[in-house]
Amino acid sequence: MRNPIHDILFEPVQLGPVTAPNRFYQVPHCTGMGYRYPRSEAAHRGVKAAGGWGVVSTQETEIHPTSDLSSSNEARLWDDRDIPALRLMTEAVHEHGSLAAIQLAHNGLHSANRYSRRIPLAPSAVVVDSNDPVNARAMDKADIKAFRGWHVDAARRAKTAGFDIVYVYAGHDMTLLQHFLLHRHNHRTDEYGGSLQNRVRLFREVIADTRDAVGDTCAIAVRFAVEELLGPEGIRHDVEAREVIEALAEEPDLWDVNLSDWSNDSQTSRFAKEAYQEPYTEFVKSVTTKPVVGVGRHTSPDTMVRLIRQGKLDMIGAARPSIADPYLPRKIDEGRLEEIRECIGCNICVSGDNTCVPFRCTQNPTAAEEWRRGWHPEIITRPKQTEPYLIIGGGPAGLEAARVLVKADNDVTIAEASDHWGGRVTAESQLPGLAEWARVRDWRMWQLQQVQNAELYLSSPLSAADVLEYGIANVAIATGSYWRRDGMGRAHRQPLGFLQKGNVLTPDDVMQGGLERDAASGPIIIFDDDRFYLGSVLAEVAVATGRAVVFVTPTSMVAPWSDFTLEQHRIQKRLIDLGVEIVANSKLADMDSASLTLECVYAGKLRQIDCATLVLVTARLPNDQLWDDLNARQDDWQDAGLRKVTRIGDCYAPGLIAAAVYGGYKYARTAMDGGDAVLREDMNVNV
Ligand code: ADP
Ligand code: SF4
Repeated sequence: MRNPIHDILFEPVQLGPVTAPNRFYQVPHCTGMGYRYPRSEAAHRGVKAAGGWGVVSTQETEIHPTSDLSSSNEARLWDDRDIPALRLMTEAVHEHGSLAAIQLAHNGLHSANRYSRRIPLAPSAVVVDSNDPVNARAMDKADIKAFRGWHVDAARRAKTAGFDIVYVYAGHDMTLLQHFLLHRHNHRTDEYGGSLQNRVRLFREVIADTRDAVGDTCAIAVRFAVEELLGPEGIRHDVEAREVIEALAEEPDLWDVNLSDWSNDSQTSRFAKEAYQEPYTEFVKSVTTKPVVGVGRHTSPDTMVRLIRQGKLDMIGAARPSIADPYLPRKIDEGRLEEIRECIGCNICVSGDNTCVPFRCTQNPTAAEEWRRGWHPEIITRPKQTEPYLIIGGGPAGLEAARVLVKADNDVTIAEASDHWGGRVTAESQLPGLAEWARVRDWRMWQLQQVQNAELYLSSPLSAADVLEYGIANVAIATGSYWRRDGMGRAHRQPLGFLQKGNVLTPDDVMQGGLERDAASGPIIIFDDDRFYLGSVLAEVAVATGRAVVFVTPTSMVAPWSDFTLEQHRIQKRLIDLGVEIVANSKLADMDSASLTLECVYAGKLRQIDCATLVLVTARLPNDQLWDDLNARQDDWQDAGLRKVTRIGDCYAPGLIAAAVYGGYKYARTAMDGGDAVLREDMNVNV
């Protein structure tokens, strides 16, 4: 039963000629599936519609070969042959009574056109914004006319494909229309350059063109970045953005407003909390009578209601919350709030698009597997015959496996060695900025605590003898991993013997209070060869001790992989702001009790620095002793009643938390399906 407080979220909203059935709006977001995996894309969007999102949007959709984002997999509408792929999506969305929206995009100086080999287009002659050695050409009047024509053609094709809402997109510092708006990209002296009135001209023209072309049946949405956090260098919400919206206030049927660039729009929970865009977007409704949608990692129904009631938004926009829980609206509708699987704000989903593959989600292992494997975020079919399972280890992998098996009516015993659940997410969520990661544990524990068929045991470190004594037929070992103490990683492929001479801690030591207990008083050196988030988070812990902190890495920047989660810039800035000295391009050459010798990874030059404590963040090893011990006793399995023993998660191979959750889900599904999980190919299909 829905709580009446939430009724307002289920009111229909008129958007020009169409009506959204409620206020839940899945704004355009990338999936890494795009034009190359159209059935996967359609199935993913269809599940969102089934879950109650009143509007479901595509990702950005290239309208022409001069906007070729290859090697990324965005959506594509270059010509009529692209219509059938997108029609798959509109059909999947309409099946559940939702509206389908398409974000038409020309990417201007943001697309190097690697595949199409066309010369990029921009307001002025400038170099493209990627590292490609490519320059964009200044558009002349004929180019502007041609671009307007391409946009109209794409809008018509979108209508033919069945879309209800067609976007005109000026955001993320990625689109031609925004490039015209920004004085740092637009140096023209004609009527499309100079004053803001001139720079907004093309935006206005394209909105009008799109309305003329498809506005009879489609709503015209505008996506506009109201703040770039660049000061006078960019668009400021209280200056230029207000002027633009005042100038165009009633022209679209919907304003979709957000921060730019993407790293500002999709901030991680380490750097921003829910509704972080509110201060920048709340003014928009005072300038237009048209509906306004905005984002900000909204997962709390109360926040959503407040934003509507306070007149800050008309529709609750979401990308990541809709990925983590495609059924979020339905759960609110049915009063099942505890079942909402809240996004943790880790941006692993974003990394999928940035590495040009179908994305994955830490919280929702079924994301992007709806077509390929036939997985559904909510539905888990009961097997013909249920079976008992023993899960050893209560981290993300073990908890997810147990949750899925229990939901399918199997009896599950789960034993955890320590006195708390959650494994690495419990440890890491206590580190600076990572508190929301505990949601991975909390959501699963809540599910397991509701049912009769899960037996949960803490403080139960199981040995091989214990497992044989239990005699449960199916055993999953989810015992996790531990950080290496020998320096091995990417830069060092052999153990470093000299580490014995100094004071060395691993991340596991630090997470168990190792730095607080450390008797040394000189500099703490973080050696980060892991290259993602943890080294920098531990540097923050080290700074809190009051000792000098030096961050040493073999790479040329701090945490390079975090570029894929849009965090690299913020992480490096944070360390600089905290006074951490950063030493790049360096690996370890020697150590004694007071110093560390570093070696330049390019030239081999040596340099000595003071070091009282070295924290090694290099690589992890599986905690698979139990697996080895059980295998050594295989002859006893049959008598004990064991049939199948499987390693899952980090115990199989240490990786992302997302991979451990996925491993837990896959284990459970495969065990119940008898290993016959669907695996459909979806590449380059002629749909
Ligand atoms: P994953 O990410 O694969 O779930 P984690 O390291 O987060 O791995 O969690 C593994 C969990 O397994 C930890 O909570 C750890 O205490 C527990 N564990 C390790 N060995 C045993 C064991 N022999 N018996 C029960 N639990 C164990
Ligand atoms: Fe949220 Fe992380 Fe899932 Fe993305 S991957 S939707 S940020 S939980």
